[in-house]
Order: sequence, then structure tokens, then C-alpha cells
Amino acid sequence: MTLYDCIIVGAGYAGLSAAKALKEANRTFLVLEARDRVGGRVITQRHDDGTYVDLGGSYLGKEQPRMYAFAKEFSVETFDASTAGKKILVYRDKQTPYKGLVPPLAIWELLDMHFLIKRFEKIAKTVNLDEPWKTDNAIYLDNITLAEWANQHCWTKAAREMMSLAAETIWGARMTEFSALHAFFYAKAGVDLTTLLTSKNGAQDQLIKGGAQTIADKIHAHLGDDAVHLSEPVLKIDQSSGETADGVVTVTTAKTSYQARHIIIAIPPPQVLRISFNPSLPHPRRCLLQHMPMGSYWKYLACYRNSFWRDSGLSGEAASPDGLISVVFDASPKGSEYSVLMAFVVGENARALSSQDSDKRKEMVLSALAAFYGDEAKNPFRLVEHTMMDEEYIGGCPVGTPAPGMWTTLGPWLRKPFYGVHWAGTETSSVWSGYMEGAVCSGQRAAREILSLKK
Ligand SMILES: Cc1cc2nc3c(=O)[nH]c(=O)nc-3n(C[C@H](O)[C@H](O)[C@H](O)COP(=O)(O)OP(=O)(O)OC[C@H]3O[C@@H](n4cnc5c(N)ncnc54)[C@H](O)[C@@H]3O)c2cc1C
Repeated sequence: MTLYDCIIVGAGYAGLSAAKALKEANRTFLVLEARDRVGGRVITQRHDDGTYVDLGGSYLGKEQPRMYAFAKEFSVETFDASTAGKKILVYRDKQTPYKGLVPPLAIWELLDMHFLIKRFEKIAKTVNLDEPWKTDNAIYLDNITLAEWANQHCWTKAAREMMSLAAETIWGARMTEFSALHAFFYAKAGVDLTTLLTSKNGAQDQLIKGGAQTIADKIHAHLGDDAVHLSEPVLKIDQSSGETADGVVTVTTAKTSYQARHIIIAIPPPQVLRISFNPSLPHPRRCLLQHMPMGSYWKYLACYRNSFWRDSGLSGEAASPDGLISVVFDASPKGSEYSVLMAFVVGENARALSSQDSDKRKEMVLSALAAFYGDEAKNPFRLVEHTMMDEEYIGGCPVGTPAPGMWTTLGPWLRKPFYGVHWAGTETSSVWSGYMEGAVCSGQRAAREILSLKK
């Protein structure tokens, strides 16, 4: 049996980046992916008429050098997301267009929001990104939820609801479900909260021509089909023959077994619990994984023959703290003959929406879109709906989020190797955690860990 230097579990951006780094270092490797395609949480749906939509991750932000380096290396074009025009806030049964970053709220609500965000950014700056548990006041901040922290520091309902909207949109989870420390960590890992929430020059600055899976497909082609086995979910990892960094690890998939000196696991945290380990994973590591649930998102792509919102001076960007749809963006491909509104139903609303059948869900979403853009929004030539909440090898979206108290008790276990097993995946990244950039960063870091070991 071939003895690989490394087997990589998962062909999302983390696993692919790890594989690419090992290839460039002339190491032997094999990528094992459960599904019949690469890209993981990034999936581009391509239609026969030449149109495409991104069902998973899609945006690139200005300060994401690793993804841009890939785009350059594989000659994949990126383009500015369309943002010109007014945004819309639908709140308290009122639809209000507005310019710039300041939403149309009462002056006292704006002041409250301003000071809340200012305070948030100030604390976030103090987070130790590599070891968040070493941040000043870490235990206190990790023991209160973001909701408790926001309640302590704002006095208007509007500011609380705006913070809640931001949280559910970023994490797909309610702000009662994770700690203030995690929120500060995550924001700093992606520059700051304002960057995460912003389109132009923020985290939603650009889109990838041909869809976000394009770069993953090109990395796959670069690695070669022989090096990436699709439709081979890993079921078992056996390190019992040598519990040292030099031991041989046997990996069993649904089809066969393989052997390697090292393993990189690059899959969503809760998915690790579905793999059988011998010896079993240390209890603290299991416990951490059991407390990192994936978020809840439904994503809707409404495709139109024309961008009627632009004709009315609207950018296509909209938000609603108390509606079914939380945020909308104009995700139209550059120079295309069709336009796309990308709408997110997040957190509690997403979980509730799942109890409806598809026709009812689409009807509800089109009505909500009409509350932003009028009845014209009710007639897309195509409406695609997608969620990863029920996908067998992902289990939720966009990201796994540690429960309160996890960082300061079990945080050190997040990246700690387990004999020959090393950990990647966007959730393990200390920069842009939760984003494609974080996935790449984590894969490259895990590859460096392997390369630093004796061959
Ligand atoms: C709706 C949505 C919108 C998003 N928007 C953005 C955005 O605009 N910008 C951005 O940067 N990020 C965005 N993200 C987040 C981004 O997509 C992820 O952070 C990133 O793709 C995660 O990459 P990964 O490699 O860490 O994990 P994944 O992409 O989850 O890859 C893990 C892979 O492991 C495989 N796997 C699981 N179990 C096994 C097993 N037992 N054996 C073998 N293989 C297995 C899975 O099939 C999957 O292919 C979004 C995500 C979603 C879902």
C-alpha cells in the first residue's frame, strides 16, 4: 500500500490549500472528499443558459491576500460588486431608502448605535488573535453572551435590534448563542466589525467571475484527479500502530483504506465527530467540537432580466432587522445580461423557514423582496433557494461558532495536533475565521506544521 506523506480530509478551500502547499514542497499526498465536487461551502450552480449563481461563499474583501493570490495565479478575474445607489432599510413597517453608511433612524438611536459600535471596535482591538483566551478580561467576556454585552451597553431597542441583525447575518446564530469574546475575536480576525458589515472596501467588496467555486476547481485541476478522490467520505482514522508523530495512520473511507504519515482534517467542526478515531479523540477536543454548532442560513438568488432597482437609483443593498429577509445584495455578474438579488434569511428565521415547503418558502421570500423593491421583485425568471443546514457533510452555514465559555476553557484544543492528525478548516484560523480567506490560511498553516516535521 502506498504510504503518503499526508492525507487531507475535505476538499474545501482549506483542504485544497493544504494540498497545494504540500505539492509545492514535493510531498506525496492524497485529498479525500466526501462529495462529488470540490469547494465545500463554496458552490457555484451553473445553468444551461450560461447563467450562474453562488449558493455558498461568494464575496472577497480587500484585505484578503491569500484568495487574491490564488485568483492571480490561476488567472481568475474578480470584479467590484455593484454598490452604486441608495440602500434600503425596511424596519417597523416602513421602507426607507438612504445613502452612505448611516441608516435612517432617530438621532438618539443613531448615537446609541454609534457608541455601541465604537465600544465594540475598541475591545475587539485588544483581542489576542492566536490565543483569544489570553485577551484582557477574557474569562468575563467569554462568560457573557454578545446579547448580554449589548444589553449592558445600549439603551435603545433600535441599537439592540441592529446589533442582533448584524450578528445573525455574520454568524447565522442568535447573539444569545455565543460569547462577546468570540464576537470580538471574529471581528478582529476580519479587520473589524465595520469591515465585516460593509460592501465597498469591506468584506463584501468583490465577486469572482464565473463564481466562487472557479478558483477551487482550478486548484483541483492543478492538483490532478489522481490526487483528489471525490465521493470518498472518511469514516475511520486509526493511529493505534504508532501513537507518535512518526507513526503510520490508516484512513478508512466508504470505499477502501489508505496509509499516511500525517493527516490534515479540514472539515466543519461538528463533522469531525462523525469520524471514528482509534485511539479516540481526547475528551476536551470532543467537548469543544460538541459546542461548536453550525449556523443557520437560507440563501435566495433571484435572477431578473433587468436590474430594475438600479433604474430607481437603488444599489440593491438592503437590510431589515424585523423582516423575514435580513440582508440583500446585488450579486449580478459583471457584464452579464441578467441581474441577481442575493437575499439571506438567517438565524431563527432560517430555522423557522425550514418548516415550510419549498413553494411556500419561495412565496414568502418573494413577498419579503417586494417589501424592499416593490412588486417587480416578485417576478424573477429564476429563483434559486439553498441551505447547507441539511447537507450531510456540512450541516449548517456559514460557520461553526463556539458556545459561551469555550474559548477560555477548551480554546487551546482547537489547533492542537492529535498524534499524526493536524487541524485545518476556516474555524481554526486566526485571521478571517469563517471566510474563504480563513480557510486558505488554515490549510497553509496546517501544511507548514507537517513540513516542519521530520520527513
Ligand atoms: C451561504 C454562505 C455564504 C457565505 N458567504 C461567504 C462570503 O461571501 N465570503 C467568504 O469568504 N466566505 C463566505 N462563506 C464562508 C465560506 O464559504 C467558508 O468559510 C469556507 O468555504 C470554508 O472552507 P473550509 O475548507 O474550511 O470548509 P468547507 O468548505 O466546509 O470544506 C469542508 C469539506 O469537507 C468535506 N467533508 C466533510 N466531512 C467529510 C468526511 N468525513 N470525509 C471527507 N470529506 C468530508 C465536505 O464535503 C466539504 O467539501 C459563506 C458560507 C455560506 C455557507
